[in-house]
Amino acid sequence: MKKIDVMILGGGIAGLGAALKAREQGRSAVIFEANSRAGGLLDNFEVEGFRFDNAVHLSFASEPEVRKIFDQTDYYTHPADAWNFEQDKWLRHPVQNNLYPLLANEKVGLIKSFLQRPELEGDDYESWLRHQYGDLIAERYPIRYTQKYWATPAASLSTTWIGNRMRRAELDEILFGTFTSETPNTYYTKEMRYPKKGGFRAFITPLITDSCIKCDYKAVAIDIDSKTVTFSNGEKIQYTTLVSSIPLPKLVEITQSVPSDVEEAAGQLVATSIDLISVGFNKNLVKDLWFYIYDEDILASRAYSPSVKSSDNVPQGCSSLQFEVYSRGTDSSYKKEELIESVIYALEKMDIAKTEDILFTHHKHLAYGNVIFNHGMEIQRNRVRDYFNAEGVKTIGRFGEWDYLWSNQSFLSGYNNI
Ligand SMILES: Cc1cc2nc3c(=O)[nH]c(=O)nc-3n(C[C@H](O)[C@H](O)[C@H](O)COP(=O)(O)OP(=O)(O)OC[C@H]3O[C@@H](n4cnc5c(N)ncnc54)[C@H](O)[C@@H]3O)c2cc1C
Repeated sequence: MKKIDVMILGGGIAGLGAALKAREQGRSAVIFEANSRAGGLLDNFEVEGFRFDNAVHLSFASEPEVRKIFDQTDYYTHPADAWNFEQDKWLRHPVQNNLYPLLANEKVGLIKSFLQRPELEGDDYESWLRHQYGDLIAERYPIRYTQKYWATPAASLSTTWIGNRMRRAELDEILFGTFTSETPNTYYTKEMRYPKKGGFRAFITPLITDSCIKCDYKAVAIDIDSKTVTFSNGEKIQYTTLVSSIPLPKLVEITQSVPSDVEEAAGQLVATSIDLISVGFNKNLVKDLWFYIYDEDILASRAYSPSVKSSDNVPQGCSSLQFEVYSRGTDSSYKKEELIESVIYALEKMDIAKTEDILFTHHKHLAYGNVIFNHGMEIQRNRVRDYFNAEGVKTIGRFGEWDYLWSNQSFLSGYNNI
């Protein structure tokens, strides 16, 4: 039987990071990727000459190890200028600091509610939101958005993932944004980088080129005792060190003789899956990089524009958008037809495009999007990770660490963990 020194399961950025570290250590590493090419979530696809990433993807990496790789590719720098759509209005991001377009009586109500916000923060996300923004802002914007984006009520989520992702509310900022639309950008990163050519995947092309990658190799069984992995083509290969970026619940499913308490813990780990509805337009209709959608009559919670990211993503004179619809669990809660119908409805409602502007719509489902931070999730996750660590299997990346990691963090998760 063939034997490999470092066997890496998954050719996303985490697996590619692990392979780079192995090369630097002078070890021989092979990545085994289930898909027909590497890239994972950072991969892209083409429809009728339009290129789409797998969801929004812009880079704000600051770590020198990551910049050393990403900066090999020419990139554009975009201001992190996001928008919000609710009812019939567009508000800059974050909403609480940009209430200017609302009616005067609405502003008064929202600000009064902010001033009367609950003092105690609580340990669930809904209480955190009410404490930060007051009941009315919380209920009108982030609590509704949470149900769409996390496919989970805010009260069921913990607060451990928030970090700098949510702008804390300050009275001065809120008041300023009610009097003027000229508000400063307070997004947690000022600039977003994106390759001039080749989609987000171009940032990791140097890693893909330098790595030894076997594509169409899906791991279907792991025997930790004999250090053997079986692939879907029937091949069995032995390893000295095993590194896995496969989602933890899947890893447990294919590993033989996992203790029942670890199986139970893995069974409680839930992530969202994402339906991507990509749209090509026959003219240049889109100016915004990305925006959030609060209305429940639109299924998508967010959309971004590949053509604003780079004109290289579309044929000349055209533009594009991709909408993200989230479901709880690996399967979609929606039929393809209703997703597409909802996007066409959204385009009209948001006054972006009419049916005659649309060249095509395209649907793709991603089984793993964001891990869901249910209360106590970390305890179950650590039980699973500790088991594999004790057995000498390193679990890396967004779904191997089972954490809210950006691409730079997923890279470092692989790079620093073999
Ligand atoms: C909606 C969304 C938006 C995002 N936006 C940004 C952003 O703007 N900026 C940013 O920096 N990050 C962003 N991220 C995060 C970024 O996508 C991830 O951190 C990163 O791509 C994860 O890389 P990974 O290698 O850990 O996982 P993945 O990319 O999922 O790679 C895992 C690989 O394992 C393979 N695999 C699975 N099962 C098997 C098997 N049995 N055998 C072999 N191979 C297998 C998969 O095919 C896949 O290629 C976003 C993520 C999402 C979901």
